[in-house]
Amino acid sequence: MGRDGEPVGGPTDADWAAAVEAVRVLRADARVLLVCHVNPDGDALGSMLGFALGLRRLGVRHLQATFPGPAGAPEPFRWLPGVELLVPQDDAYPAPDLMICFDAASESRLGDLAGRLATAGTSLVLDHHASNTGFGRVNLVDPHAAATSVVALGLLDRLGVTLDAPMATGLYVALTTDTGSFRFEATTPAVHEMAARLLATGIRPGDISRRVFDTRPFGAVRLFGEVLGRATLEPEAAAGHGLVWAYATRDDLARHGQPAYVLEALIDPVRCTAEADVSCVVKQSGEAEWAVSLRSKGAVDVSRVAVGLGGGGHRFAAGFTGHGPLDEVIATIRAALPPPSYPHP
Ligand code: AMP
Ligand code: MN
Ligand code: MN
Repeated sequence: MGRDGEPVGGPTDADWAAAVEAVRVLRADARVLLVCHVNPDGDALGSMLGFALGLRRLGVRHLQATFPGPAGAPEPFRWLPGVELLVPQDDAYPAPDLMICFDAASESRLGDLAGRLATAGTSLVLDHHASNTGFGRVNLVDPHAAATSVVALGLLDRLGVTLDAPMATGLYVALTTDTGSFRFEATTPAVHEMAARLLATGIRPGDISRRVFDTRPFGAVRLFGEVLGRATLEPEAAAGHGLVWAYATRDDLARHGQPAYVLEALIDPVRCTAEADVSCVVKQSGEAEWAVSLRSKGAVDVSRVAVGLGGGGHRFAAGFTGHGPLDEVIATIRAALPPPSYPHP
């Protein structure tokens, strides 16, 4: 972080060269393990699988992709090209020659797979979180990149891989996920230029968006209705910028017969709330454990809030794991938000 908490830097020429070298020196029988963050989103999976297909093009034969936690991609991503490379974490190479991590700001986001960093021959980190701890042997971390797939494509280009439609599909899913379908601040001219390159391979953006963003079981529609019906607005919170929050328990999921992934989309209707700068969805992930999503419209830096509570993320989108009863988790969030004396930007 530089002055004013703005992200600085990005990979240097030496970083890019070291990353290219790490791939170029691989022997024909080398084992390469790709890992993305727990509870993977479109950027994590799309960057990883798009890059994996590029490595396959380069002739890497022993190639696995994985992530911590229950095996199998969430339903909206099961159709992604390259998904056949996914293995359950327990089946992942115990000592790969090269380990490449995607969209994970810290080792803790790799869960039980973090141990592979020590047993791997070498490791490469591709990411765009300003809070990235640089836990790889070589780190390609660009805080100005809209998605990890921007970094992944940068490396594929430097490796001389020719982009094709299957590769582009994952990279495009990643880019649309992290830019909110080209709506967020991170949507720079360079993002649209990259999207144009990806679309030029012939991929179909309408089909992709429908599968990733606009399809969910009817039970999830009903579940959202119930959960949104009890959302709470606290206009005085966050130094008067306002907080809106909603929660969903495992019991809510069970009653509607829904898997946990459907809750990932819940933040979107919540964050529409005009009266609140900060929005929050608290999703039960264990008996007394909650996955918390935070969003801001700009007045509050939610990355700072999340980092303070043991998590991470970006200025406008961040998260952390909460422990204890729901009302305590909410109280913790409220207390971590800026007090009335907080200097307004
Ligand atoms: P989400 O709300 O899950 O979509 O995540 C928003 C952003 O916060 C993403 O950049 C995540 O990588 C980050 N994030 C979410 N949960 C955590 C966590 N427990 N620890 C660190 N970063 C997180
Ligand atoms: Mn992510
Ligand atoms: Mn990302």
